[in-house]
Amino acid sequence: MRTTILDTEGYRIQLPAGAVIFQEGEAGDRAYIVDSGEIGVSTRVNDRELQFAIAQHGDILGEMALIDHGVRTATATVLNDAELIVIPKDYIHRLVTTADPTVNLLMQIVMQRYREMKSHFDTISAGGSLDSIEVKPKLENSQLKAQTEMAMRRVTEEQRLRKALHNDELRLFYQPIIDLNNGAILGCEALIRWQDPERGLVPPIQFIALAEETGLIEPIGHWIFSEASQAVNKFNALAGKDDAFFISVNLSSRQIETDRQVEVLTDYLLDNDIELTNFKLEITETLLMSDPLRISQVLTEFKRFGCKIALDDFGTGYSSFSYLHRFPIDSIKIDRSFVSTMAENPTSKAIVRTLCTLAESLEMSTIAEGVEEEKDQTMLQAFNCNFGQGFYYSTPIPEDEFMALIQKQLSAA
Ligand code: C2E
Ligand code: CA
Ligand code: CA
Repeated sequence: MRTTILDTEGYRIQLPAGAVIFQEGEAGDRAYIVDSGEIGVSTRVNDRELQFAIAQHGDILGEMALIDHGVRTATATVLNDAELIVIPKDYIHRLVTTADPTVNLLMQIVMQRYREMKSHFDTISAGGSLDSIEVKPKLENSQLKAQTEMAMRRVTEEQRLRKALHNDELRLFYQPIIDLNNGAILGCEALIRWQDPERGLVPPIQFIALAEETGLIEPIGHWIFSEASQAVNKFNALAGKDDAFFISVNLSSRQIETDRQVEVLTDYLLDNDIELTNFKLEITETLLMSDPLRISQVLTEFKRFGCKIALDDFGTGYSSFSYLHRFPIDSIKIDRSFVSTMAENPTSKAIVRTLCTLAESLEMSTIAEGVEEEKDQTMLQAFNCNFGQGFYYSTPIPEDEFMALIQKQLSAA
């Protein structure tokens, strides 16, 4: 009996014994989870249907065709009246496309191997000899080959980065943030680097994305908080005050994606006596917009530790001031793409001026990034921008050089 299953309203279907759910060789457009009953899974051998499995409560059927877009490799027939939950194609597609690339690759390879073995099995059972089986070179599929190479590079790089964290190869550099009213250093932004014994100093652009994708950003993030806290305490001890300098730390969205991560991070801060009173957390608009209500709560929780919040790269994302008041934001960092071009580009200049005025009316302070020349500084002062950061003052530097800058400022005072 062939029952065409079209009515999937509620994604639950009931089928009588004898109904065929799908047939070997046809294209698949959904998978199934067996809730009750029994399903026979069979394949055709020498014109005979050979049953090789019985699926029962909790078993999944027909997912293969959806993962690698091949045809059904088996026929599924209801043995005892069954109730099935239908998993639509786009649901599986979403799961597959968002899976880790290495997991995705392994799935594709397992599928390919299974289909190859099945085709050999079919050849033999149809009377063909073992010699007639063409042994294909492994991974002749060029797309899979490229994916494999990518996965290999990624896995190798991930292992190196994991080792770097373990072997103490990560470094925090500090870039001064200047009071535009008087030129004094008020704080710094902590920027990560990787001191790779083979490659030298690796910039964050080359490994932060990988750290985020692999989840390594969590332990790295903990290390950053611990390192930044020790650094700011040293800077303040040198200045002889508890709160002379603040330190800005970049918080990536992957560090606070789940409530569990936030809990682990805040526990880490408490367990290690890391106070955030001199901290500013730099977050991006994309993070704010990902889940506004939750992020607002998370930021409020962090602010209970005494830190401030700065909105990084402002002007490059949604750039809508209308939602800003909904978040506990203290400062806006104007993206360097506007600041470093405003002297020549009237549009950039207008954007920087407008952002300074609007931030002021929202009672938020402004930090201009990418101040590269004196004329940038002069313009920012005219716009009442509060703080400046950029190569005009200093590139990001190691802790001892930053301490020397502070010392110079103290001696001049
Ligand atoms: P960002 O947060 O926008 O950091 C500012 C970047 O601008 C830094 O690059 C800095 O060296 C550069 N910069 C500063 N002043 C100037 C200037 O006058 N001209 C120019 N052309 N560039 C300037 P860096 O250190 O390579 O960092 C790149 C990005 O990597 C950062 O962008 C941030 O998104 C990420 N990153 C760096 N450190 C961390 C970290 O500890 N945690 C996380 N999650 N991300 C980090
Ligand atoms: Ca930043
Ligand atoms: Ca930035």
